[in-house]
Amino acid sequence: MKQYDLVVIGSGIGGTSAAYQCREKGWQVAVIDKHPVGGTCALRGCDPKKILVGAAEIIDRIHRMEGRGVTEGSSLDWSDLIAFKRTFTDPVPDSRTHAFKEAGIDVFRGVASFISENEVKVNEVLLESRHFLISSGAKPRPLDIEGSSHILHSDDFLELASLPETIAFIGGGFISMEFAHIAAQAGSQVHVIVRSSNILKQFDQDLVSLLIKRSEEIGIKFHFDTKLQSVSKQEDGFVVSGTQNDENFRLACDLVFHGAGRVPDLEDLDPDKGNIQTEKRGVTVNEYLQSVSNPIVYAAGDAAASAGLPLTPIAAMESYAVAANLLEGNHQKPDYELMPSTVFTLPSLALVGLTETKAMELGIEIEVNRMDTSEWYTYKRINEPYAMVKTIINKENGHLIGAHVLGSNADVLINHFAVIMHFKLPFDEIKKMNFAYPTTASDLPHLL
Ligand SMILES: Cc1cc2nc3c(=O)[nH]c(=O)nc-3n(C[C@H](O)[C@H](O)[C@H](O)COP(=O)(O)OP(=O)(O)OC[C@H]3O[C@@H](n4cnc5c(N)ncnc54)[C@H](O)[C@@H]3O)c2cc1C
Repeated sequence: MKQYDLVVIGSGIGGTSAAYQCREKGWQVAVIDKHPVGGTCALRGCDPKKILVGAAEIIDRIHRMEGRGVTEGSSLDWSDLIAFKRTFTDPVPDSRTHAFKEAGIDVFRGVASFISENEVKVNEVLLESRHFLISSGAKPRPLDIEGSSHILHSDDFLELASLPETIAFIGGGFISMEFAHIAAQAGSQVHVIVRSSNILKQFDQDLVSLLIKRSEEIGIKFHFDTKLQSVSKQEDGFVVSGTQNDENFRLACDLVFHGAGRVPDLEDLDPDKGNIQTEKRGVTVNEYLQSVSNPIVYAAGDAAASAGLPLTPIAAMESYAVAANLLEGNHQKPDYELMPSTVFTLPSLALVGLTETKAMELGIEIEVNRMDTSEWYTYKRINEPYAMVKTIINKENGHLIGAHVLGSNADVLINHFAVIMHFKLPFDEIKKMNFAYPTTASDLPHLL
């Protein structure tokens, strides 16, 4: 039996900073992971995905600039690209493990499961601890589809040795859409199969409509209102079947991917044995991220049923808050008010704050400014066909309460909007500021 002050389950963003901060204060800390050390973002999520997006962006831009001084002829070499991606991901487990050990943190590789309120087991080793942090992340939502074992996941997409001719993505969330765009730019025929009649539901639907239009132009085929019942293996590839608006639906493809949402990864932990209450969204926690049923347990990141979205910056913020609460007693509540997020499609789509619909539901009197920016120099010079910005202003006090951007620079612009919203910066002052020109920021005064 080994004894600790803190045992962290999960070596991703949600676990890491709490582990280091507690160790810095002299606590005995252990980190356990059932996968290679490093977590989803660095190994199987944001970072490797953005490498593929980076290459797809170049191809998209070349296509758009053909006949405008750029000649055609470039294409994605998938296996080269995956090899390049691995130069980033391969070193992560060793370097993170080494860094933990250097800091005096013990690292265990294996599945952690609770055996009592203050003990976990990993590979037959028993760890007793004063505190636990569950930062076990998320996994693809189980799908009630016959033959679901044939469906591949995002981890598989990021490791594909070659890209097949025809790919189907199930679900219309950000993972499906980002991978659909990457695969389409790499030359695959891409299908996106969606149960309902819309995608990316938390984003502004006017902008989403434009993104769908652009996606269709690059060859992505959407199958809306389609309920899948089965995936069956054929001699060459798979057939997905179900119903579409009560008619039979059948699609042959080489590979089928899951993009239909993720759920907290808690089952392996045996939370009942640790007296840890859970719900659909994760470990049930109070505002300090402490388990409501077992007070020595905290949760952070995708595994916590907090008010935060399952995104990397939220996992990081929660990990800091957990460390502060563990070290100094419960006092820090994460601030979820503003969380910019971006879907890295081509063009990208981003939001911060409220959508028009949400603001109206909350009964806020709003002014909505919808600006088609596709004719602006920023987008014209790179022949970008669809660009739009929508701002939502609270009429009562003139504050910006929501911003929505579609465009290749949406990821940059959305953070400018987030700064304005966070500091409630007066528009007049921003309009007086000088920004380097021509840049994304120099458009900002004209968008307020
Ligand atoms: C394809 C993809 C793309 C994404 N892109 C973005 C993006 O662009 N921007 C963004 O903000 N977010 C993105 N995300 C989400 C982001 O990756 C997560 O929100 C973030 O990584 C969550 O961190 P975490 O520490 O909570 O969990 P993770 O990083 O998932 O870490 C959890 C760890 O716990 C381990 N674990 C689970 N159960 C056990 C157990 N019983 N015993 C031992 N170990 C266990 C797992 O092996 C895992 O390594 C993406 C996610 C995916 C899948």
